[in-house]
Amino acid sequence: MADRIAVNDLRRHAISTETAVRTSVERVLNSGWYVLGQEVEAFEREFSDYCGVGHCVGVASGTDAIELGLRALGVGRGSRVATVANAGCYTTTALMALGAEPVFVDVDRDAKLMDLGHLKQILSEAALDAVVVTHLFGLLHDMESILDLTARAGVPVFEDCAQAHGARRGGRHAGSFGAAAGFSFYPTKNLGAVGDGGAVVTGSADVAGQVRRLRQYGWESRYRVGVSGGRNSRLDEVQAAVLRAKLPLLDGWNRRRRDIAARYTREIHDPRVRCPAVHGEEYVAHLYVVVTEDREALRAHLAEAAVMTDVHYPVPDHRQPVLTGAGGPVAALPVTDELSASIVTLPCYPELSDEEVTRVIAHVNAW
Ligand SMILES: *Cc1c(COP(=O)(O)O)cnc(C)c1O
Repeated sequence: MADRIAVNDLRRHAISTETAVRTSVERVLNSGWYVLGQEVEAFEREFSDYCGVGHCVGVASGTDAIELGLRALGVGRGSRVATVANAGCYTTTALMALGAEPVFVDVDRDAKLMDLGHLKQILSEAALDAVVVTHLFGLLHDMESILDLTARAGVPVFEDCAQAHGARRGGRHAGSFGAAAGFSFYPTKNLGAVGDGGAVVTGSADVAGQVRRLRQYGWESRYRVGVSGGRNSRLDEVQAAVLRAKLPLLDGWNRRRRDIAARYTREIHDPRVRCPAVHGEEYVAHLYVVVTEDREALRAHLAEAAVMTDVHYPVPDHRQPVLTGAGGPVAALPVTDELSASIVTLPCYPELSDEEVTRVIAHVNAW
């Protein structure tokens, strides 16, 4: 049987980046300085330049980036924050940590992103303190339309860019549209560290300063705790040095991901499998997700052919036990529910060979 094709294979990524990563890690080991130093400062500068925003603050994870970024925008206990329920529950986890209430917005069937009609309706019904827009699967949402709606209501927008590093629309990068944005550098992300990491980017010096205090105990200066809600959530020097080595390669990896995704969409012909549209630079193909009514049969057929698949994500936020346990009403999110039962993720990562892509396509078409 042919070799197994995994949904992602970080060993291949490690081999392709080995020399650069090894040099970076050794530089940090030899420096004797491991937390919040020159590497983090340099990465923050390089990543904010890359995104085209004024400020970047490294933190310990993507979930922390959402939590601390929202706190810096004024979200806290009792705040109401609109978000989608199909994005892995990370934003909802951050909201629970803040004591804020998630207000779930349904998604649209094709892009699988926040439904603007539903958002508009929610904005008209009750006051919100923020909106989190997730560029899910690597597709940058239509930020102009969203900002048009939210600006009229005076509600700040936070972008969750954990799957969208480098996505662009009209020359502007993911993370440069909202009041602030969060990134994750978890190893499987389009820009991944060799451990956990995250960042908040923002055009506001005030928001950046607040996140800098919050990530380090709430210190306004050393050992002087000036703001509440502070934590220890720092990006370390090893991760920052690795990210600096990989950042110049990100656009090339994203092109390769997009080419693989475009081939899938053009060459998969089974009428029972609905593929995403072919996109331009606004899509960085973090995950390639198709929709089918008979998910288990497709997954079993592909597994038989040694093509691995996954589901991102099987449990929508509004149906997570942590939220339904209290027995309150469950939000009506028909499209989110429908998609959670019918989405399948196919292998899509830069190190996949053309021949493997051909095999995936052939096996889907042979279903
Ligand atoms: C990975 C991810 C996060 C969380 O990032 P961590 O670094 O794992 O905390 C948040 N949002 C989305 C959409 C993600 O994919």
